[in-house]
Amino acid sequence: MSTPPAMLHPELWDHDDTHSIYRNGRRLDHAEASSKPLRAKPEPQPRGAKIHGNRPVDQAEAAARFIAAPEHEKMHDERLWDLRQKRDREMHGIPEWEELRSLASAIKEHTLTHLDDYLDQFEANARSNGVHVHWARDAAEHNRAVHGILNDHGAKSLIKSKSMLTEECGFRHYMASVGIEVIETDLGERIQQLDKEDPSHVVVPAVHKLRTDVAEVFAKTIGTDPDNSDVHYLAEAQREANRPLILAADAGMTGCNFAVAETGSVVVCTNEGNADLSANVPKLHIASVGIEKIIPRLEHLAVFVRLLSRSALGSPMTQYTSHFRGPREGGEMHFVLVDNGRSERLGMAEFWTSLKCIRCGACMNTCPVYRRSGGLSYGATYSGPIGLIIDPTFNARKYSNLPFASTLNGSCSNVCPVKINIHEQIYTWRRELVKQHETPFVKKVAMKAAGELLSRPASYRAAIAAADVALAHLPHFVIYNGLNAWGKHREVPHPPKQTFHSWYQVNREEKR
Ligand code: SF4
Repeated sequence: MSTPPAMLHPELWDHDDTHSIYRNGRRLDHAEASSKPLRAKPEPQPRGAKIHGNRPVDQAEAAARFIAAPEHEKMHDERLWDLRQKRDREMHGIPEWEELRSLASAIKEHTLTHLDDYLDQFEANARSNGVHVHWARDAAEHNRAVHGILNDHGAKSLIKSKSMLTEECGFRHYMASVGIEVIETDLGERIQQLDKEDPSHVVVPAVHKLRTDVAEVFAKTIGTDPDNSDVHYLAEAQREANRPLILAADAGMTGCNFAVAETGSVVVCTNEGNADLSANVPKLHIASVGIEKIIPRLEHLAVFVRLLSRSALGSPMTQYTSHFRGPREGGEMHFVLVDNGRSERLGMAEFWTSLKCIRCGACMNTCPVYRRSGGLSYGATYSGPIGLIIDPTFNARKYSNLPFASTLNGSCSNVCPVKINIHEQIYTWRRELVKQHETPFVKKVAMKAAGELLSRPASYRAAIAAADVALAHLPHFVIYNGLNAWGKHREVPHPPKQTFHSWYQVNREEKR
């Protein structure tokens, strides 16, 4: 049997594929070919958290539905763990990795503590490059500013590369409400747009979907064969459907990974080259820039570029690192600098360093809760460990459950390329939410009772002894019943014959 192509998981590869393209006896990884169908009847895609206005998002409920779809859960867990392992391999190839992380963290902290100066410098340099610079206090101002620019040009359609900031601003919904068509150019983001879902991951937006889910979405929206989940067929069909829209678009939009104050330019990193299409095909280019994206000098970029893709996907570089400095001849370029809560976060003593985030997704890929519950279970723009810190800064009540969706194992902090103390900030949010009375009544009462018990050693020992006796004699249904969510996926361990305390008394204290 021949070796499967590097880009295809062995499970996906059709060994009998007769349409592959070979060169020098090797099948081209990116060549048109077919991959075998996964199964006759696909498992339905579990949907994300149910949102009820301002009410707290029930992440656990949505996670339970994701876990109840075993093919999705297994695939998601394995895909993301694979990224984590690739990240580790790349990291081990760079002896100065820890120095790079420290340097990146220091550059970000320096910039954030001098943000006003660097923003002024960025604006002045961008203007002198011929770029129009706009400021937006919040999401509504951002959306209105972009709408105004499009109106001035009579633009009715906009191609756009992936940008978490625009997700934060509810940009696509706003544009739909004012009659402007937005076409996502990133493949994963386009899948999510066609499926009317938000991205579930900051780097790989459709990572929670099986390819049979994608086949179903494309069959409904761009008319592909619903029974063909061949990855090449689907990618090619999407490309064929999107290219005419890209060529006909009136305007293009990108996000921004880094905004360099010294040059007044923005840098966008992609693997599909789609930001270059968005920026270069139409004559009008608009870039949405979060104010925390500023770095002082071009030389600093090298530090972040070395860390970003290695941390995100375990690859040495993104395929494209594009610099946009000024409008091309006959064109127009606009930068919209957006605050949307960032200044307020900068003033939060415990949480301001979350602004260092470069959105690599490494903390999500390593998080056991995220990997098994899917990004849409968080019901927020940002999911995974970084989301647990950022989301409550937007709305503490709505996202009050999120900081509890963590084991606090610290793996997120260990992999973060800019050294954010993520798990410590998650823990701080828990305390903060209790102070703000934003935790559920039952949890509050239970924690208070536990606190009382743990602060009195004699009562604690008596309770442990009573619990051990009770557990040994309680009928099974008392714990494992439909009303007790705890017992649904857990087994109470058998109580030990002897507690540590009594063992210590016998083996240590009595021998003194
Ligand atoms: S918090 Fe750190 S690891 Fe997580 S996305 Fe941001 S930069 Fe990456």
